[in-house]
Amino acid sequence: MTSEEFRRRGKELIDYIADYYDNINDAPILSTVKPNYLQSLLPNEAPEEPEPYDEILKDIEAKILPGTTNWQSGKFFAYFPANSTFPGILGEMYSAMFNGIGFSWINGPAMTELETITLDWVGKLIGLDDAFLSFKSDGSSTIGGGVIQGSASEATIVAMLAARQMAIEKFTQENPNATEDDVLVFTSKLIGYGSNQTHSSAEKASRIINCRYKGIDTDDTGVLRGCALEAQVKADIDAGLVPFFTIGTFVTTGIGAVDDFTGISEVAKKYKFWFHIDAAYGGAALVCPELRYLAPGMNLADSFNFNPHKWMLVNFDCSTLWFKNSYYVKSSLSIHRDYYKNSATDSGLVRDYKDWQLPLGRRFRALKLFMVLRTYGAQGIRSHIRNSIEYARWLETEIAKDSRFVQLHPRSLSLVVLQLNKDYIKSKCDQPVSSDLLEQYFKDACELFSKEITKDNTVFLSSISQNGASAIRVAVGSPNTDQKCMD
Ligand code: PLP
Repeated sequence: MTSEEFRRRGKELIDYIADYYDNINDAPILSTVKPNYLQSLLPNEAPEEPEPYDEILKDIEAKILPGTTNWQSGKFFAYFPANSTFPGILGEMYSAMFNGIGFSWINGPAMTELETITLDWVGKLIGLDDAFLSFKSDGSSTIGGGVIQGSASEATIVAMLAARQMAIEKFTQENPNATEDDVLVFTSKLIGYGSNQTHSSAEKASRIINCRYKGIDTDDTGVLRGCALEAQVKADIDAGLVPFFTIGTFVTTGIGAVDDFTGISEVAKKYKFWFHIDAAYGGAALVCPELRYLAPGMNLADSFNFNPHKWMLVNFDCSTLWFKNSYYVKSSLSIHRDYYKNSATDSGLVRDYKDWQLPLGRRFRALKLFMVLRTYGAQGIRSHIRNSIEYARWLETEIAKDSRFVQLHPRSLSLVVLQLNKDYIKSKCDQPVSSDLLEQYFKDACELFSKEITKDNTVFLSSISQNGASAIRVAVGSPNTDQKCMD
């Protein structure tokens, strides 16, 4: 493709994208294709000869688009928001233009430095303590700071590795004659914690780093309490295990609970292990100062992560992770080879982000964050969050007025969980029914309701199991949601 053709095709594509977003709320949300539909539509091998661009476009239109899910619809209320915005898309285009792989400062000075600076900006916006930032107000650097990961799942793995390193270094300091085998025996005893509501990615992280992991029971409101954590920690220490990590969640995926960060942090301090906060979904709300009371103790963590790519208007992928002490992540992930050697690294004046993440190569993700932060400003981002919450409040009021439904759990920011009202089901029975039969009717009705509500493909919602039956989660957060979508 020549630059001339690129110019023409690129402009066409921009128009196409703008049209897509202009009409997004009228499009069906879920694709209706059948599993493996694409296999029969595309050849078995990549083309030997170059193909005309128009032919490729035709295939995208006819074969690919029918198999896509319209996550950006304002009527997509399932799972969690996954915001996309024009500044975010333009930031992605810039990034694609440079296509640098800036794993060390030397091969991406702007990529590295913009990331450090924007993470300080975002850290301040969400109320993180100075200890998490890279620079003090006088411009001098700290031992803390932020990095962009691809996902909250990666952030948890990276935080777990830092925690593991901290535990190993403590062990080797206390046992200076420890051999490599002693360290291996020690690491085989490590155990990490979350709650039974913690996102699956924490358990996955523990599988990846090959340590034990326990999801501790929460209280009745879905909150992991410090006392429950301590009871488990004590039992595990008595059994010869070594607690090294705990995760606390700000806004759990299922019902939007917030763990007891203060209690968890006390336990982590007492038993000298790492405390990581996963705020992947809800963390964006902390840009609003009036909502920060919902996260007491958030600054007590050793590491903190949230996804601007969920609810903060930045296109996927952009998961921001901060450390109070970046020494352990670097100690865990930095491996020297001659081919990385350069004078900037040797000077000790620069940050090489390859030592803060799992892969070597990295994308210029800070650009889209920078574009979103500057085009919306903090005010624009706050009003997006506040709008989503207002819509969720409206839904809450509608549910309260409607005897067919009950709201389960207090609304968490813009997440509302609702279920059919058992009394309503009972009132619809022609004759008195036993409590067992009523339970069965209720369960069946809830199941049917969760299927039927999305049947005409004009809205998408996900469900969870509550009170032994299906309940609907309504996760509001798309910038494309308006009152019509809510209705
Ligand atoms: N943590 C929480 C609380 C989440 O809600 C999610 C996604 O739903 C994740 C982690 C995983 O996010 P990611 O896809 O960025 O790994």
